[in-house]
Amino acid sequence: MVKAIVGANWGDEGKGKITDMLAAESDIVIRFQGGSNAGHTIINDYGKFALHMLPSGVFYEHVTNVLGPGTALNINVLLKELAAMEERGVPKPKLLISERAQVVMPWHILLDSCEEERLGGKQFGSTKSGIAPFYADKYYKIGIQVCDLYYPEILKEKIYSVLEVKNLWLTTLYGAPPVDPDQVYVELIKLGEKIAPLVCDTTGFLQKSLKEGKKVLLEGQLGALKDPDHGIYPYTTSSSPLAGFAAVGAGIPPYEIKEIIAVVKAYSSSVGTGPFVSEIFGDEASRLRERGGDAGEYGATTGRPRRMGWFDTVATRYGCKIQGATCLALTLLDVLGYLDEIPVCVSYEIEGYTTQDFPVTPLLSKAKPVYKMFPGWKCDISKIQKYSDLPDNARRYVEFIEESIGIPIKLISNGPRRENVIMRD
Ligand code: GDP
Repeated sequence: MVKAIVGANWGDEGKGKITDMLAAESDIVIRFQGGSNAGHTIINDYGKFALHMLPSGVFYEHVTNVLGPGTALNINVLLKELAAMEERGVPKPKLLISERAQVVMPWHILLDSCEEERLGGKQFGSTKSGIAPFYADKYYKIGIQVCDLYYPEILKEKIYSVLEVKNLWLTTLYGAPPVDPDQVYVELIKLGEKIAPLVCDTTGFLQKSLKEGKKVLLEGQLGALKDPDHGIYPYTTSSSPLAGFAAVGAGIPPYEIKEIIAVVKAYSSSVGTGPFVSEIFGDEASRLRERGGDAGEYGATTGRPRRMGWFDTVATRYGCKIQGATCLALTLLDVLGYLDEIPVCVSYEIEGYTTQDFPVTPLLSKAKPVYKMFPGWKCDISKIQKYSDLPDNARRYVEFIEESIGIPIKLISNGPRRENVIMRD
């Protein structure tokens, strides 16, 4: 039985917490795309952790965590996260790395930073983790797979051949120093040795586990609107965060995915540049930002203040549709408890017409939000555990969202901790 947990918005929907909760009843948790460019925040008995590379099941001794072939493996970040967990007394997690996953190379990170700098005011707001150059190289077929680390001759040849071109870019286009291929080679061999006990044929392992009836959780990073095919291109990420891609990026048959839980945030936030129709600014945004998450809405990877906005039914309905969501988890509802009135964006006005359909990027940039106002509940709801105990206005807000998306909300998260959750029948 396979479930996928994926974002319906722009990322940072609180997927980490929901995955952490559902991991408790899973045997396997898999990351299927992306790398250390986004982070999940998890708060549990060991403390607060920002995971970038590790799957969210690492805090459970019974869970096997898998980094699938679709991920962008930054070995240094992975080793640092494992060391930080060990330091804080978390038992060593069970972790498997696909031998077909590709490795983020030092030149990916360098080129990412150099290019953002060159773009100046036109930059995309990259986290500079090397993800765009990494996926570009993967599809350009000059990437390095984890398995290459164990074939020194092949590895050396690949590094030399790639650097011939990359060093030209670095030195001539960006005026940066070249990368030394011998140094990269020696470092990679060492890193390869460190992770060797974790590397295996994860696809074979998963196929066998599914036959044995194991419970599998697919953990998405970022959200639907950041998908390169269906999202707000080019302000997207470089790999697909959609449940449909999860089968590919993890290495499981698509028909095994029985439940797709789209995580939906009770308001909006986004990092990076690009159109964001229901965005708010100034004091209105600061008030929401400071109350958001468990310690304000600041990027888990970069610490950047997130852009804030009201709930957007047009974008979220579209996000849930492209995810193929079978149910929703509504998060961060407690955050809205300070508001007298809560605006919800119900349609877009574009060049004189009104639409409820999410448009292509050039039109999205021209869209103006049309708001409907909802009365606030003006109290702390984080201790509530039963749906019927929520204030009437909070239930009205939840039910409006549910109705406008057309998919049942099965779970409501009303605080950052594991126990802050309301299950709905
Ligand atoms: P992810 O990348 O989708 O996991 O999202 P983040 O890591 O940005 O998580 C959002 C933030 O909100 C984190 O700091 C969580 O601890 C916190 N959080 C998650 N769910 C809730 C919730 O229901 N209420 C509150 N107040 N905070 C939450």
